[in-house]
Amino acid sequence: MKLNVAIVGRPNVGKSTLFNRLVGKKLALVDDRPGVTRDRRESEVQLGDLHINIIDTAGLEVAEEDALETRMRLQTEEAIGMADVVLFMMDARAGTTPMDEHFAAMVRKAGKPTILLANKSEGKASDAGYYEAFSLGLGEPMPLSAEHGIGMADLYEELVKYDEEKRAKLGSDEADAIEAALAEDDGPLVDVDIEDDESEAPLYDPTKPLRVAIVGRPNAGKSTLINNLIGEDRLLTGPEAGITRDSISVNWEFRDRKFKLFDTAGMRRKARVQEKLEKLSVSDALRSIQFAEVVIVTLDVTKPFEKQDLQIADLVGREGRAIVIALNKWDLVEKPQEMMAELREKATRLLPQMRDVPLVPVSGLTGKNLDRLMKSVLDIYEVWNRRVSTSRLNRWLNGATQGHPPPAVGGRRIKVRYVTQIKTRPPTFVVMCSRPDDLPDSYQRYLLNDLRDTFDIPAVPVRMLMRKGD
Ligand code: GDP
Ligand code: GDP
Repeated sequence: MKLNVAIVGRPNVGKSTLFNRLVGKKLALVDDRPGVTRDRRESEVQLGDLHINIIDTAGLEVAEEDALETRMRLQTEEAIGMADVVLFMMDARAGTTPMDEHFAAMVRKAGKPTILLANKSEGKASDAGYYEAFSLGLGEPMPLSAEHGIGMADLYEELVKYDEEKRAKLGSDEADAIEAALAEDDGPLVDVDIEDDESEAPLYDPTKPLRVAIVGRPNAGKSTLINNLIGEDRLLTGPEAGITRDSISVNWEFRDRKFKLFDTAGMRRKARVQEKLEKLSVSDALRSIQFAEVVIVTLDVTKPFEKQDLQIADLVGREGRAIVIALNKWDLVEKPQEMMAELREKATRLLPQMRDVPLVPVSGLTGKNLDRLMKSVLDIYEVWNRRVSTSRLNRWLNGATQGHPPPAVGGRRIKVRYVTQIKTRPPTFVVMCSRPDDLPDSYQRYLLNDLRDTFDIPAVPVRMLMRKGD
């Protein structure tokens, strides 16, 4: 499934610049003269789990005024028509203009989900324009600098939300199909007699390199760790061109398994601007995890679980990647046992969404425990790929709902009827019940935790979607 995203706005606000940044290469000429001839472009890109088709409306020809207006309108309408989400862009340095208002009116009329981007927001000069953008009637503007790459993680997160909505809608169509197949059985809470999907073989190819990213705050020790991990003797290939402009990948082997490590942060380090460090290390993390299957979040154990560490870990989880936390600089720890207990407690409290996340004490400097770290990566990768057969799942659901029945809401008991795993990487389950909207969060959490326990699925993100079906 792909999400269709149209970039809309008057000429010269920065649409092409954003398009190029999202697509990751210089596809189009960017010119600061308004209305330079360019073709309308569409391009499909994969950003992490997000598969988007971007439609840029920047291609406008300078012709007579009327023709220009007509063409612009037609092209914009067409793009909006194709879009699941409209990115409406204005120039926060210039403020709102009558032309912005004209375009905004078209977007409002179309009634599509819209993200209002206040572009060129990299400095103070954009403050006033940012506030003016509220008057466009398209909700709260999101500050962005397409040219400097600021705000891209926020934009990405918004797009993920719309993508999830679209998926959920498709997912419920899928659920409808399953429901139709089950239409005849009308038993008690759960009826288990489904004989499909018995294979529990993991769905990955062990001969393919496992893609790993190492992320973390600046100075957490990522570079040191990477150097020690891939060590000269194990380094098989050097930097490879061609993934994206800013990434390098390194292949190495550990216990006969092939790994491919993506390092985007290392290359970008030099370009960093000191005061933007906080934002950048989160967006760097985002760039790296787009390529990865398993992500090693590196903490500096002398300053563990700071806000940025939590943001990065949370991002990895929301991206659906498997996560291992490396407690780096362990050589500096004086009381290892106490420290471990303290960190375990912190992880449970601060990252409740990642139950039992592996915490591996390591030292990138001395090389201590790196074997254990890689073993953890392999283990979690297996869990991330795990597949549970529909019949085992439904036996579990039967027991779980009998042991602890769903509550009655509004005088009627909610029926939880059927569960199936619709995908792996990360494990994703659809649970059908009579009134999904009324099922309390606490009950969903109970089911999720019980499922994790029963099928031994710790730490990796697990998606459980509740769908209507009875
Ligand atoms: P389009 O006509 O909407 O596609 O706009 P372009 O992408 O061609 O950009 C128009 C001009 O704005 C170019 O000179 C860009 O370099 C500049 N521009 C784009 N994004 C930014 C930004 O975030 N900040 C600043 N200061 N300039 C930008
Ligand atoms: P990065 O910004 O995350 O890539 O961090 P670096 O690898 O550049 O390391 C930052 C600093 O921490 C450097 O001074 C390293 O020598 C130091 N460092 C990295 N790993 C360790 C470790 O395991 N133990 C100790 N004691 N220092 C470390």
